Amino acid sequence: MSDDSRFSPETAHSSGVRPGADFLPRAELRQLQTERLRQTVRIAYDKVPLFRDRLAEVGIAPNDVRTLDDLVRLPFITKTDLHDAYPFGLFAVPMGEVVRLHASSGTTGRQVLVPYTRADLEMWTEAMIRSLALFGVGRGDVVQNAYSYGLFTGGLGIHCAAEAIGATVVPVSAGNVERQITVMRDFGTTVICCTPSFFLQVVDRAQELGVDLRQLRVRVGVLGAEPWSEPMRLRIQQAAGIEAFDIYGLAEIVGPGVAGECSVHQGLHVLEDHFFPEIIDPASGRPLPDGEEGELVLTTLSKQAMPMLRYRTGDMTAICPGPCPCGRTLRRIRRISHRSDDLFIVRGVNVYPSQIESALLAVKGTLPHYQIVLTEQGDQERAEVQIEVTPEMFSDRIGVLAELEEKLTRKIGQAVGVHLDVRLVEPRTLVRSEGKARRILDQRHKVKTS
Ligand SMILES: [Zn+2]
Repeated sequence: MSDDSRFSPETAHSSGVRPGADFLPRAELRQLQTERLRQTVRIAYDKVPLFRDRLAEVGIAPNDVRTLDDLVRLPFITKTDLHDAYPFGLFAVPMGEVVRLHASSGTTGRQVLVPYTRADLEMWTEAMIRSLALFGVGRGDVVQNAYSYGLFTGGLGIHCAAEAIGATVVPVSAGNVERQITVMRDFGTTVICCTPSFFLQVVDRAQELGVDLRQLRVRVGVLGAEPWSEPMRLRIQQAAGIEAFDIYGLAEIVGPGVAGECSVHQGLHVLEDHFFPEIIDPASGRPLPDGEEGELVLTTLSKQAMPMLRYRTGDMTAICPGPCPCGRTLRRIRRISHRSDDLFIVRGVNVYPSQIESALLAVKGTLPHYQIVLTEQGDQERAEVQIEVTPEMFSDRIGVLAELEEKLTRKIGQAVGVHLDVRLVEPRTLVRSEGKARRILDQRHKVKTS
């Protein structure tokens, strides 16, 4: 079967997905979004006290929201609001209509419980089927799903859609790097799905074991759930001989499938008929024009069990101006450069891990495993970037390492605009995560109290 025939409209149709949804004329899409927004506002107001109270505070009734332009008048919802509503405060339907519960990954310890009706699951699967089509994944593919199964949405989100399109799903889940390599080799995997940082561990281990991933059948990586840089994509593609696609989503909205890259790799198409994107200035809350970076705000247009109005995602991106060469009419967001809460400040300068990642990947002899350790010494805040070097580099002369350290310090200093201490560490010394990588280790408070 040729690649072209796999994603014919007929194939998409048989899986229950409207083939034209990605290609609707803008006016038609806008009409659909408007109708769905009005329904969503009505449900949210009628069924969820949080939304009713917030709308009442600004003196807006559901009937006041007539067009998409009225959206900017609605108040924002933050993660704190969701935490305060835990566990059932955001449910818009009785439990009898809820067929599944997921929870946000809760990296800060508090979680958000996310309910789905049957129709919600169908919508999510449809969104994920369209995402897989973006990546060129279809029947005949062997999909190794190394996102974790469980309350995290990654595992089942990918699983249900891949099964629905008739691909062969291998539900291996996250973790156990060596088993991933064995499965990839023995099962004839063509598509690997996991976080980019986890895939790097697979790449490293494969090299150690003498397995050349480029010789295997795997051709596509569906990588997401954390910000990652363009140099990181290049490293991954070169090392594994795959085309790496960025996928975006969050449990608070639905899970993976909110947006995904097409083969043009110039931004992620937002599935706008279900999820409406806005970009705001995180400080003022003011909407920003296309092309300007700010915080992504999302409104669901077809969710039943947990509708969401103007949710501040904390993810920093921009709307890509102009149409995509692929022909889809769905607007695109740039790849998430960082999360607004990833920011740390050193001597008054804002620094993001992604800037450090890009700088260090431009230097030969380093591995994209790094960690930023923040400490306090007296009144002075100190940031140290710990970077793993390649095994070859580490066994080399000490002078070479010193030279590399100096080069990295200079590169990173140029990239972020302030001097950061750099320390090279042996390969495999930094803690690995099976899911989202944790780049910042904040020891400032600990140092103060000890
Ligand atoms: Zn495109």
